[in-house]
Amino acid sequence: MGARSGKQFLQRLDSTPREVWCGDKKITGSVSEHPAFSGVAKSIAALYEMQLKPGNEFMTYKSPKSGERVGSSFMQPRTKEELAQRTRAMRAWAEYSGGIMGRTADYLNSSVMAMAAAKEFFGNEGRDYAANIEGYYEYVRENDLVLTHTLINPQSNRSVGPSKQADPFIAARVVEKTAGGVVVRGARMLATLPIADEIVVFPSTVIRSGQDDVPYSIAFALPVSAKGLKFICRESFASESKYDHPLASRFDEQDAVVVFDDVLVPWERVFILEDPERANRVNDATDAIVFMAHQATVREAVKAEFIAGLVTLVAETIGADQFPQVQEKITEILLTAETMKAFLAASEANAKPNRWGLMTPDYTPINSARNLWPRLAPSFATVLKQVGASGLMAIPPEGILGSPAAPDVEKYFQAKLADGPERIRLFKLAWDAAGSSFGGRQDLYERFFFGDPVRMASAYYAWYNKEPYKERVKELLHRGD
Ligand SMILES: Cc1cc2nc3c(=O)[nH]c(=O)nc-3n(C[C@H](O)[C@H](O)[C@H](O)COP(=O)(O)OP(=O)(O)OC[C@H]3O[C@@H](n4cnc5c(N)ncnc54)[C@H](O)[C@@H]3O)c2cc1C
Repeated sequence: MGARSGKQFLQRLDSTPREVWCGDKKITGSVSEHPAFSGVAKSIAALYEMQLKPGNEFMTYKSPKSGERVGSSFMQPRTKEELAQRTRAMRAWAEYSGGIMGRTADYLNSSVMAMAAAKEFFGNEGRDYAANIEGYYEYVRENDLVLTHTLINPQSNRSVGPSKQADPFIAARVVEKTAGGVVVRGARMLATLPIADEIVVFPSTVIRSGQDDVPYSIAFALPVSAKGLKFICRESFASESKYDHPLASRFDEQDAVVVFDDVLVPWERVFILEDPERANRVNDATDAIVFMAHQATVREAVKAEFIAGLVTLVAETIGADQFPQVQEKITEILLTAETMKAFLAASEANAKPNRWGLMTPDYTPINSARNLWPRLAPSFATVLKQVGASGLMAIPPEGILGSPAAPDVEKYFQAKLADGPERIRLFKLAWDAAGSSFGGRQDLYERFFFGDPVRMASAYYAWYNKEPYKERVKELLHRGD
């Protein structure tokens, strides 16, 4: 089939049965028209449509298998030019939402792409897991599917491993192996984008050693229609009004806890089975982490640019841009944008083929970006609030514009550079980015989507070669002794 159109994405979404709980109701009928998903489904459709637009040939490439044009985020880059094509395509998608959508398909496409290139890592003892991951990558690429994923066990008791929870079947685990596959029972979190076509379950946090935790060390993929699979969503932040909630109405990707009610995973969809050693190393050893973080850095740079544009417009609209402390705060965001772009440029300039032959961005700047971002991104909401101040609450709903109070809105809500309705529209956008339920979720997402920043920092500390720096200090200490 090759690269999909927006219409093909929506058709598959509506024709794929899935058990998604939204509020106290299971979704029945069209998912693409459900109020919680219609906005984001349209946005995703627009992304797929974009890759087919004349002039956007860089968003696709010729599949080595079928000869069809397929999405560039599936490309296994062998040269710096191909790596640059991946970046260009990822940037085009990120710009569509101002980097607000974290789970455009290129994020997980990058992961399965890298894992497939490193198929040998998965081994073929007993079962041919190497062939499974390669076959899965090709299936996703040729059908241009979008994936959701769950990495972590439910947040029940973090002081002990999955087998030591109050109930050892809270976290998803293998309960049986049959001729047809592996039966999985339990739950995982947190699946952003339950309207995806497929779910991948990969290990991320280090699985505690010990035989009891072995059944939890698995990696597999399933269609979202698999029998026994349930998505339990948080409250929807989506809104019908693009005026009142400019971001939530378009980009609420949703987040769900996923329940596996004795779900059968066919053997060809199993990538790692009861193998803590491989489960713990899969992301690093295959360089999936580098390619996912590369996609994330592209999006983060775009998001910082978008927030910089937004806060500048807010300041200029109310004539606050002349104040030095406002300029200083906007500069903070501009510096974040430039920092992320510098990391990206350095990672690509120093890219080298990895052991599997992929032209791989240099991990040092990419890993630094991944660790710095959760420390920088929280300032977006802070700065938008500091600059927007009470104007962020002078945002009556759209309906007021058709009410008898409309003349008051025209007069008293006007700003230096905008009439009343236009000022409200802009400040609603700022509030949706910084303070609404959707804005709060954005903040939380940027803090945690790539893992716990505290443990990531410890891992960074252990990984970073600090020896040359220490040596220089020691040399200075004893210079002239
Ligand atoms: C909006 C959003 C969307 C997400 N989407 C996805 C998704 O699509 N797929 C997916 O797989 N995941 C997703 N995640 C989950 C993300 O991977 C986790 O948030 C992240 O890995 C941290 O785990 P946790 O949230 O369970 O925090 P916890 O591990 O429960 O941590 C809670 C607190 O305890 C501390 N803590 C816990 N254990 C330790 C320890 N051993 N040592 C030191 N400190 C510790 C942490 O620092 C933190 O302060 C999403 C998260 C958010 C917020």
